[in-house]
Amino acid sequence: MPAIIAIDGPAGAGKSTVARKLARRLGYAMVDTGAIYRAVALAAKRIAIAWDDDAGLARLLDPPGLPIAFGENDTVFLDGEDISAAIRTPEMSRGASVVSARPVVRERLLDLQRSLGRAAPRGAVLEGRDIGTVVFPDATVKFFLTAADDARARRRHAELAGKGHEVDLSDVLEDQRRRDKDDTERAIAPLKPAPDAVVVDTTGLDLDQVVERCFRAVRERVAA
Ligand code: C5P
Repeated sequence: MPAIIAIDGPAGAGKSTVARKLARRLGYAMVDTGAIYRAVALAAKRIAIAWDDDAGLARLLDPPGLPIAFGENDTVFLDGEDISAAIRTPEMSRGASVVSARPVVRERLLDLQRSLGRAAPRGAVLEGRDIGTVVFPDATVKFFLTAADDARARRRHAELAGKGHEVDLSDVLEDQRRRDKDDTERAIAPLKPAPDAVVVDTTGLDLDQVVERCFRAVRERVAA
């Protein structure tokens, strides 16, 4: 079995950046599971399926399933089209949050996430909200990254600005609070640390420090 590293936590805690750098250092694959929920939201919107339409969402995800694929440098493809930028808009953040609360969606995405992790030759770093609690409860090492919400909103704002999205910091903060609340309070697979997760508060830490800390924890566990 490849080593499975779970990184969960709220929006803007630095999960993607840490997961990417950690995976590179370990020589593991990286799986951004939020991108999968975002792709579902985008695919649904394009064929006019409402984000809370369970029957429509089931149709979208039932076999043969969503034609989603991952390429180099975090590119995501839907039916051969590069959707990496299209899924990273504030609208698709909201859409992902809505579809991800629907049990029909979560159940149908479980096998995909597990097979992406298991297919990695040496190991995989998966980041999301429920990797350590639901997708891989037996993960080799579990991390839960958190940070103060204004620090997280500032990071997300800078990331969006870097991609050319002009949004107010206050809107990012409000949107993030709503998503955190929805993700934490939903009935299925709510956002919470696994009991055996290493909780890392990234407020005031730079990302290299966080990666270093996670890297050491993985090396210790994998060596043991
Ligand atoms: O991590 P990212 O911001 O891309 O995730 C988008 C949304 O997808 C989250 O707000 C959450 O609602 C949902 N999600 C989830 N479970 C995961 C990953 C993402 O519910 N494992």
